[in-house]
Order: sequence, then structure tokens, then C-alpha cells
Amino acid sequence: MEIRRVVVGPLDTNCWVLHSDRSAVLVDPGDSPEVILDAVRDLDVTAIVLTHVHFDHVLAADAVAEALGVTVFAHPAEAATWENELAYLAERGHYDAGTDTEKLLAQGVPLNVGTWSGRFSPVPTRLSVGSVDVEVLHTPGHSPGSITLAVPGHLFTGDTLFPGGPGLTTGPLCDFPAIIESVRGLLDHPADTVVHPGHGLDTTVGREKPALPSWIARGW
Ligand SMILES: [Zn+2]
Ligand SMILES: [Zn+2]
Repeated sequence: MEIRRVVVGPLDTNCWVLHSDRSAVLVDPGDSPEVILDAVRDLDVTAIVLTHVHFDHVLAADAVAEALGVTVFAHPAEAATWENELAYLAERGHYDAGTDTEKLLAQGVPLNVGTWSGRFSPVPTRLSVGSVDVEVLHTPGHSPGSITLAVPGHLFTGDTLFPGGPGLTTGPLCDFPAIIESVRGLLDHPADTVVHPGHGLDTTVGREKPALPSWIARGW
């Protein structure tokens, strides 16, 4: 299996393309649908999968799904997450960009451009990319329906696991004990498994695993 990364949107979201031969699955089309479509022009995309539905992972989902004629999949528990995104937008006039919100607004990044229909189908527990089997792991904590896509040697963790720790658990639908259990399960994969997060650089299970007790102790 081969991997492409397209970085989109004000939060530099990683939109991942998993492909085997010409067959592909597209993960987290967060923004810039034309850029994403350009990146998969030579591939036969069979599905779009959302690791979770925070705004920075979904704003190009409708446009890309329509252009490619494919289904958008997410965990059913993410319906509440999108409702919460819309409620926050209605109340504050912009989306919640976590710890980056104030900085981005001060820089003049509007954080209220674009939306999503909220339409998705329940993600199956397994998907295929050509002949490659992709396992869908429910890894709640950053949001109730966060998922991780697992193929041998690779984990696509969304905002559940980054270099240096788990994703944010400060929002109303977040759960720190849950994300720790999710991360514990992910770190049971072989040490050389590459972790591809929803933002920023890759890491490996072996590099992160020793730090788990310190993440639990600090509480975030
Ligand atoms: Zn998120
Ligand atoms: Zn994110």
C-alpha cells in the first residue's frame, strides 16, 4: 500500500490518500476540494473516511464526495460531534480551533468559512484498498466517534494520537480516560508501526509508547 498526504486548511489538516495499485480510500478531506481532487486524479477512489467530524476534517467532504461519486463514512457517534460544531459556530460566529483559535482569529483567519451537510454512512469495521485490508478501530476520547484506520505497519490516528501525546480532550464531548484507553490500544501495535496523525508529522509506536505513563500523570 502507498500513502499520499495533502495538507489543507487553516489548521494544516493531513488529508491522507491510501492506495494500492489504482484503488484508493481518502481520509479527512478537511478543506481545498480542488487540491484534494488533483491529488487523486490518477486513482480510483472508492470511499471517503472521516477519522472524526471536527470542522477541520470535513469541510471538503461534500464537494469531494460529489465529484468522485463516493460515500462518506464516519462512526455513528460523530453525529453529536457535528451538532456540537454547529452549535459552537452559531454561538461564537466561528468554529472551535482548539488551542489555536485565538491565534488564528488574531491573524485574520476567519474560521467561519465553509460547512458540511453532516451526511455520512456508518463506517464498517473493515474496508479494502485494492487487495489491502483496512481495519477500522473505534478510538474514542478526542470525540465520541473518533476512529483509527489500521493497516499492517501503519495507523491513521486522526486527532487521537500525535508525536508527544494524545489529542485535545478539553471540549464538551471529550473524555481523557477514554483517549488514554484508546491510545493504550494503539500503542500495542508493533514498535515500528508508523503513526500518521491528523496534523503535523508522523511518528512511530516505539517512539511514543515509553511516554504513556507521563501523559497519564500530566492529565492531558
Ligand atoms: Zn479534532
Ligand atoms: Zn483536527
